[in-house]
Amino acid sequence: MRVLVIGSGGREHALCRSLAADPQVTEVHCAPGNAGIARVATLHPVTATDPAAVADLARELGADLVVVGPEAPLVAGVADAVRQAGVPCFGPSAQAAQVEGSKAFAKDVMVAAGVPTARSRTCTTPAEAAAALEEFGAPYVVKDDGLAAGKGVVVTDDRDEALRHAAACERVVIEEFLDGPEVSLFALCDGTTAVPLQPAQDHKRAYDGDQGPNTGGMGAYTPLPWAPDGLTEQVMAETVIPTVTELARRGTPYTGVLYVGLALTSKGPKVIEFNARFGDPETQVVLDRLRTPLAGLLLACATGTLGAFGPISYRDGAAVTVVVAAEHYPADPVKGDVIEGLAEADEVEGAYVLHAGTAADGDRVVSSGGRVLSVVGTGPDVAAARAAAYAAVGRIRLRGSHHRTDIAFQAL
Ligand code: AMP
Repeated sequence: MRVLVIGSGGREHALCRSLAADPQVTEVHCAPGNAGIARVATLHPVTATDPAAVADLARELGADLVVVGPEAPLVAGVADAVRQAGVPCFGPSAQAAQVEGSKAFAKDVMVAAGVPTARSRTCTTPAEAAAALEEFGAPYVVKDDGLAAGKGVVVTDDRDEALRHAAACERVVIEEFLDGPEVSLFALCDGTTAVPLQPAQDHKRAYDGDQGPNTGGMGAYTPLPWAPDGLTEQVMAETVIPTVTELARRGTPYTGVLYVGLALTSKGPKVIEFNARFGDPETQVVLDRLRTPLAGLLLACATGTLGAFGPISYRDGAAVTVVVAAEHYPADPVKGDVIEGLAEADEVEGAYVLHAGTAADGDRVVSSGGRVLSVVGTGPDVAAARAAAYAAVGRIRLRGSHHRTDIAFQAL
């Protein structure tokens, strides 16, 4: 199989790495990729959000499968264009990707499908926003309706801050605060059938102790030793299957990964958000543990044959990833600094470095984004995996960079 991956982050490096390790795969291509992905895939300087350019590339390469990593190309219609070009594509149509592209659309689908989620109001005026804040009370949860790379959500006790965020957005969803640990569950979907992967936990806040601003994600681990038995089955029955059924009923069947962000509240798991793609950095740890070869699994989703696919299996043990972020991330990340110690980090037993915002500069690797690296550690349990990840992080030198030192604390 010849596979083309779209995107350039740590998630795409993990996807390319797993695809390259699949014996069925003969060639891995990536557009546009990064300095680390270049070691496992052939890079193509094609803009990820340009549907016609991606479809042309897929056809030129004779790709058997296109895997779309990030949300922006999906919302732009890349999966539609690739399918129109006759190439199987793992990723939802632009319409189905609205589960992520519009918080209001996602809420509408959840309500129609009877999915457990926070009560919410969609508001377009300051007066509506003020009334909704009053209705739900503090802590206030205010979400920009459109795509914001995980940074459009404000959770605050400060009513003025909540109002200011609402006023800065054209349309916002204001909702009830959900209390409880968060879990990310990826469901692979082929339009009608859905199969879960192993749950993982992300760390959204920039600093230790879940302090500071929301980010794209600062670290993740799997499995979750503390998660209640039957959690995956419950979320599949209450959320994933009803959602996939509702989207098919609307004439927008869902193909790709439905990412369910959950809060485990005292009243059971409730949906915080849907995403239309694999989570970054949870993908890095989930794919590390996945034993089932990835290409066949994703192709089964793209071709509507997931129902006939056998059971999915995992390696024993755990994986932890720690994101190394650039100075001043998430507000205003500094770019263009040399990254040193990458080879030394890869030498740590059980650890390896995935690249996110990196670029090649001659023989050197330089930072080119907010989240620069996603360092993965593996081991027989979460504590061992975490120790391996941090040992590797300790060998990396990037001026001004920061990372959380408490990834996976809820498991320890
Ligand atoms: P989202 O982009 O919707 O995932 O929101 C980003 C982060 O904001 C989530 O990972 C949560 O930590 C937090 N968040 C979003 N919605 C809620 C909610 N209803 N209650 C509590 N926290 C929330």
